[in-house]
Amino acid sequence: MGFLAATVWAAPAAQGWPRLLVLLVVAVLLLAVVAIAVRRLWPVFGRSRAEPSRAEILRERDEHLKLALWASGEHFWDFDLVSKRMHRLRADENGPHTAEIAVLTRKSDMPTIHEQDLPLVKQRLRSHLQGETPIFVSEHRMDLDGNGSWVWVRARGRIVERDLGGRPVRIAGTARDITATRNAEYEHRIASEVMRSMSEAVAVLDWNQNFIAVNKAFARITGYAEDEVIGQPASLLDSRQHEEDSTARMLGGLQQDGSWSGEAWKVRKDREEILCRLEINVVPDASGLRRLYVLVLNDITEQKRAEQELRYLANYDTLTSLPNRSLLSERLSRAIVRARRENGRVAVLFIDLDRFKDINDSLGHATGDRILRAAAARVQQTVGAQHTVARLSGDEFTVVVEDIGSSREAEDIAQRIITAFKQPLSFGDGLELSVSPSIGISLYPDHAQVPTDLLKHADTAMYQAKAAGRHTYQLYSEKMDEKTRHRAILANALRRALERNELSLVYQPRMSLKQQRITGVEALLRWHSKEFGEVSPGQFIPLAEESGLILEIGAWVLREALLTLRQWHELGLQHLIVSVNVSALQLQRGDLADVVARTLAETGMTAAHLELELTESVIMANPETNADTLRACRRLGVSLAIDDFGTGYSSLAYLKRLPLTTLKIDQEFVGDLTHDVDDEAITSTIINMGHSLLLNVVAEGVETAAQLQFLHDHGCDEIQGHWISHALGADACLQFICKHGPGPTAAHAMP
Ligand code: C2E
Ligand code: MG
Ligand code: MG
Repeated sequence: MGFLAATVWAAPAAQGWPRLLVLLVVAVLLLAVVAIAVRRLWPVFGRSRAEPSRAEILRERDEHLKLALWASGEHFWDFDLVSKRMHRLRADENGPHTAEIAVLTRKSDMPTIHEQDLPLVKQRLRSHLQGETPIFVSEHRMDLDGNGSWVWVRARGRIVERDLGGRPVRIAGTARDITATRNAEYEHRIASEVMRSMSEAVAVLDWNQNFIAVNKAFARITGYAEDEVIGQPASLLDSRQHEEDSTARMLGGLQQDGSWSGEAWKVRKDREEILCRLEINVVPDASGLRRLYVLVLNDITEQKRAEQELRYLANYDTLTSLPNRSLLSERLSRAIVRARRENGRVAVLFIDLDRFKDINDSLGHATGDRILRAAAARVQQTVGAQHTVARLSGDEFTVVVEDIGSSREAEDIAQRIITAFKQPLSFGDGLELSVSPSIGISLYPDHAQVPTDLLKHADTAMYQAKAAGRHTYQLYSEKMDEKTRHRAILANALRRALERNELSLVYQPRMSLKQQRITGVEALLRWHSKEFGEVSPGQFIPLAEESGLILEIGAWVLREALLTLRQWHELGLQHLIVSVNVSALQLQRGDLADVVARTLAETGMTAAHLELELTESVIMANPETNADTLRACRRLGVSLAIDDFGTGYSSLAYLKRLPLTTLKIDQEFVGDLTHDVDDEAITSTIINMGHSLLLNVVAEGVETAAQLQFLHDHGCDEIQGHWISHALGADACLQFICKHGPGPTAAHAMP
């Protein structure tokens, strides 16, 4: 260049035109030089733009790495085994262009591996370093950020550098947070385990409603093994019982809400129909484009059957299979609604078996149940299947008769039932037993408008039938309510009877046939009410028992009877004994022996002069406890008589176990002696039987000399009844005993 410039500036020595030519040549030369220079320098400029520098290349690679790490979510790590330094590189979550590079030099900076996973990680690393595995792979928990939150990491790496001796000095690789994947896998594992172990059948259907997966329970419930249904249409399980509209409803539900649940009949492989509870949910398939159906199916056939049984139990009596009270009310209500619409009439018959409690207590509950079943069948047979026969409780049955024209028709049906029961009930194995019903009748609309009142009135009428001597029917009338009210008023008046001194005792003498003298008296209670006049014990004793007053009254009777007897004894009639009637409640209380002992002590009488009379039904009301109480009384030395014998159903074997001393034959048999051969046979049998049990046998209700003769001839020990004397007041009785009683004592005792 220097050279060229010198040449140009030497040129002014030339002259005119030649000078211009020289200038032109110099300019051309200069251009050429520039062009050459530019050409020479061009590659330098060109490379700086098209071919990057080494630093640029490194930066670019670094960018790529960050991008790759960011996109893949991987971390990069590089561990110097000699210096124990680790380099870590990971992309920032927010974008590929910012990245965090960590060079960890101190042990405390290293991300912590979970102590449970550490041994395994070390072992895998060792295996790789020792050349046993081509690659180091490990899944373990790490606290990457040092903030105590553990994440699952899958690390992969391999040896990237060895020393001259071939020993590994560097290992590098990537790591990825796989917590979410592991959780998903875990959930998936749980889900499939749940599906596998579910007791409900689970099936997955594809978009064409073909089976693609089923669980174990599916095979158990439907009978189809997995390989028998996969690929098959879901209609394989369809039942013919299905109406089309229910399927349409199901599909409609699926379309709209993505789920459907309900009950449907399905068919098992063995063609058995099963009722299923179904739940179908629509889920998108993996592509998200098509629909899969997840079907959960539960066999509820048994459950439904059990529900039906429960419904049956709620409405039917299990013993007789008759409708129970609740179903009766329902049917009666419906019958009334129909009758009201059609101007019709409904009859309610309330049936109660006479003395069933005695039968039940003496023959045992198993026999009692058989009687109830047979009685239920007898009633239903008699009235016909078109009428509702229900069992209300115990031995109470009800018949609802619809469409009856008049009360006469209802009475005819009642009479038919009573007649039907004249035939003994038989139980198949030769056992036969007669029971009689008492029936009360009420009518809609004549007596009441609503079921409860109709039942109440029929019940009242039934009680009147019992009061009328049992084994009969009564049609309800308002007067009956009057009687019921009267009963209530009477019960109230009885409460005050003791304090008002309205109660008294009469005494009926008892005569020994052998000794021909009065041996004792039975104390019988009387109530002379100021309002109601003489009320018979048959009327007021049940009231006293119902109200519990009998305890107080019974204690009074005992005391009063013993006081009277003491007076008589003091007059020299020491051979006389007194019998006192005891009712069920007194015995059931369990303290009868105490009350007796106390009263004996208070009145200064000895137990040997007291006899307690108990009917069979009183004893049998609670046989075990009552037997204990009776034994306690017997230990005191008190005599025990079984009263009204023959009217109950006590088994002899049972009576034998009781500490009885006396047997009183009921006046029902005695009354018919001499004109009823049956009663004669029964009476003589009872006498023999009583004697075989070493009991003193007394016949009650003896009214004629012929009866007395019969009893005498058959060895009866004592008699009691109007033939000897009516029951008399204490003074009159004393006079009677003294007057009629043969023997020295009586004569001696005359005042
Ligand atoms: P019961 O213990 O069997 O008493 C016998 C009943 O037969 C008495 O009736 C008596 O008057 C009656 N009678 C006696 N001889 C004859 C006769 O020849 N012919 C007829 N037709 N009847 C006769 P009453 O006094 O009306 O007593 C009825 C029942 O009331 C008694 O039957 C007894 O079970 C009960 N009773 C009476 N007093 C008491 C008492 O103080 N306590 C308890 N718990 N019950 C009593
Ligand atoms: Mg008696
Ligand atoms: Mg009696």
